[in-house]
Amino acid sequence: MYFELYQDCFIVKGAKNILLSDVHFNKILDITEFYEIFDGKHYFLIEDNLSEITSFLITERFGNLTENITPENFRKKFKWRSPNKINEVIIEHKLKDNFDTAGAYRMIEELSASFIQIRFLEYSMAKIDEILSFIEFSSIQTVEILIPFNGIPQDLTIIKKLEINPRVKTVYFYNAPENRSIVNDDKLFTIIYYEKNIIDPKYCGIIQEDYFLNDINNISKSKAVNNCLYGKLFISSNGDLKNCPSADKIINNIDKTSISSLTEEIKKEKERFITKDQIEVCKDCEYRYFCTDCRMFRESPENIFSKPLKCGYDPYKGIWEDWSTNPLKLKAIKYYELENLN
Ligand code: SF4
Ligand code: SF4
Repeated sequence: MYFELYQDCFIVKGAKNILLSDVHFNKILDITEFYEIFDGKHYFLIEDNLSEITSFLITERFGNLTENITPENFRKKFKWRSPNKINEVIIEHKLKDNFDTAGAYRMIEELSASFIQIRFLEYSMAKIDEILSFIEFSSIQTVEILIPFNGIPQDLTIIKKLEINPRVKTVYFYNAPENRSIVNDDKLFTIIYYEKNIIDPKYCGIIQEDYFLNDINNISKSKAVNNCLYGKLFISSNGDLKNCPSADKIINNIDKTSISSLTEEIKKEKERFITKDQIEVCKDCEYRYFCTDCRMFRESPENIFSKPLKCGYDPYKGIWEDWSTNPLKLKAIKYYELENLN
């Protein structure tokens, strides 16, 4: 008799620790202590002294007993495809945009992006109304809005306007006097007050366990392309197009390009295709398929395959430390001018 992992369960081996993930029930179990019984396979032969582990794994619904092992080529494989070259757009607005705003939203619509984050660097009620009118009949499913905090009465007027829009799921008030969130489950609408100036690109790229995602989409994407940058597009308040808000490189300007040119141009952006299995250190980390990534802040700025700078995990020791005080990262911290981030 054998114990065999269910099809939704798979093992990720790191340099020190080994995890067993169940993407169906969203569970992760550290199996470092008893990984050897699997011996690199998705099953093991049950011997008397393994009965305790076997019962535990069955109770926790990671697998079951069988006499007939499923051959490896009949096991579920992770495959990731997306019909959209751009699926996630971050766009900045000032009171008067330095680009053709209506044209930008037409392009976003033609790209069939399903997610948009709208960052108001400055705003007025008329500006918010104008932007909301562009997405009224759009294929965008989820909208996040970032607005500078301007005092509670003003913010309540904005909330009233946004919460009735079914696409708007989250509004962030940045530069607020406190960190606070209000979740309205009935309307699937969340308000977040944030002390930090979260539109400052330097705050992006933090790697921490809270952001890990044990879901089939993220795992499949992480194995195929870059899980942060693939499908992303940033449109700055000048209309400059970049891989993300923290990128230095300008790919083009929204007023000077077309969808077909942009699609060709982003194919040449190598960072979009770098997987976790190709990144130094991450490729030896047991969290590599659950973790987010960052290609803009790297331990070695000159190396596009270098580990994310803002990760404090050492997969060779299995411990988390504060990345910002790590002496080995000081050079890169200085390079990116991240010394006074808090
Ligand atoms: S690459 Fe880094 S900085 Fe850019 S969006 Fe991703 S996490 Fe943020
Ligand atoms: S080393 Fe850090 S960034 Fe890399 S996969 Fe592990 S936790 Fe994520």
